[in-house]
Amino acid sequence: MPDDAARAWVGLGANLGDARATLAAALDALGRIDATRLLRRSSIYRSAPIDSSGPDYLNAVAELETTLAPHELLARLQAIERAHGRERPYRNAPRTLDLDLLLYGDAVIDTPTLAVPHPRLHERAFVLHPLAELAPGLVVPGRGRVEAQLPGVSDQRIERLSA
Ligand code: ADP
Ligand code: MG
Repeated sequence: MPDDAARAWVGLGANLGDARATLAAALDALGRIDATRLLRRSSIYRSAPIDSSGPDYLNAVAELETTLAPHELLARLQAIERAHGRERPYRNAPRTLDLDLLLYGDAVIDTPTLAVPHPRLHERAFVLHPLAELAPGLVVPGRGRVEAQLPGVSDQRIERLSA
């Protein structure tokens, strides 16, 4: 990877159909994005739906290295979501696959189509736990270290499944 490569963190969630198979396929797809390498992935977690409905979610976080710009990376993530038949009948509907761009280096981005850090990252156990597993000291711009935010989500049910 060239010097201008950025470290990006992606949150994965699925709660319909065979969620485990969906996550495995999505991680595979992340590894095949152009100009991008999949460096690491967290364990799989099971979490209760938040602001959403349906069965428990399975979640994970992936660490990428990429020379794509943030909006380009988001477009690749959305293409992978679409490939998994995601529909958006209404906001926060249950979904086959949700891919969120959580962090892109230390960039702070606020546009109508992309906000980074992801605006709800710091209040979601299903993001913070897998992120803390991979990088507890990682600093979320404007929020501080990932691990310092875990106490704030201790009321949210989440369970780490075997890798
Ligand atoms: P959420 O993931 O917050 O539950 P959705 O996945 O339905 O909700 O939201 C998708 C929309 O959010 C997209 O239209 C996308 O443009 C926008 N969006 C803004 N910031 C981000 C981000 N960091 N990652 C993913 N989508 C984002
Ligand atoms: Mg999303």
